[in-house]
Amino acid sequence: MASINTCLHSLRSLNKPSPSSSSSSSSNVRPCVSAKLNNPSPSIPNLIQNRPVFAAPSPLITPTWTEDMGNGSYEEAIQALEKLLREKGDLKAAATSKVEQITAELKTPDGGKPPFDPVERIKSGFIHFKKEKYDKNPELYGELAKGQSPKFMVFACSDSRVCPSHVLDFQPGEAFVVRNVANLVPPYDQSKFSGTGSAIEYAVLHLKVQYIVVIGHSACGGIKGLMTFPFDGNYSTDFIEEWVKIGLPAKAKVKSQHGGADLGEMCGHCEKEAVGVSLGNLLTYPFVRDGLVNGTLGLKGGHYDFVNGTFELWGLDFSFTPSLSVKDVATILHWKL
Ligand SMILES: [Zn+2]
Repeated sequence: MASINTCLHSLRSLNKPSPSSSSSSSSNVRPCVSAKLNNPSPSIPNLIQNRPVFAAPSPLITPTWTEDMGNGSYEEAIQALEKLLREKGDLKAAATSKVEQITAELKTPDGGKPPFDPVERIKSGFIHFKKEKYDKNPELYGELAKGQSPKFMVFACSDSRVCPSHVLDFQPGEAFVVRNVANLVPPYDQSKFSGTGSAIEYAVLHLKVQYIVVIGHSACGGIKGLMTFPFDGNYSTDFIEEWVKIGLPAKAKVKSQHGGADLGEMCGHCEKEAVGVSLGNLLTYPFVRDGLVNGTLGLKGGHYDFVNGTFELWGLDFSFTPSLSVKDVATILHWKL
């Protein structure tokens, strides 16, 4: 862990903004306007810094958008616009378009609200967490400050609706989580999948997790992609097809067993079959096999259906040899909670 922390500190220092960049917009007459129109993402480098972000947010955020915009009177703003258009008639078309846009925005129910402020959202979220959880559980966070010993490693989809800590009520320190598109575990491959491999290696060998759980979910876009991409050699995405094709054995099984079903039904089957493929792929990692054989590690598959509010778990108690094949794991027992 020490080496990981060192890496993080190095990254932070590399991305630390220069003094000039951190104060560049503070003297601007209309910082919010210039930031939005001329520099769509000025806050990104400034946010990565080795000090609390919320200590000096003024150059980065525009929480007082309406106040900034209201410094002058309405009449003055209109007069300034009219003057500009008298002097530069060719701007009339662009001005008309913008006025129409503003009119439409003001007509909407939330037209008077400031635009979404990501920093404000993150700030309020952290303040809530700090007040309601961190400060109320000094014992837990005191223990976590010393280290972690999670019992679970969890693979879940990156989908914003399926956070496993939320769905399964995992508390901090309980689950070592990897999330990716379609919650896939790739087979052991040191060159192609070192990200996943390093997470599994760390979880099994160093954290000594007791269970690895792979959780699929309903309406998974990654699985829908797996079921609909042709995989004919002509990729239409930079990464997605190459990634989700890890689940091709699941697609083949679903096509052979449910080929006549509609796409939605086939995707539902594939969401679960792909979990089986991932469990099989976990067996290609020597340290996972060793853990299973020694009885120190268990594998489980799950499926969270957020449409119906159900969770299904594939349980398997191991007493098998290292020669267990992918096919054996794909036929594990299903049981429903
Ligand atoms: Zn998904």
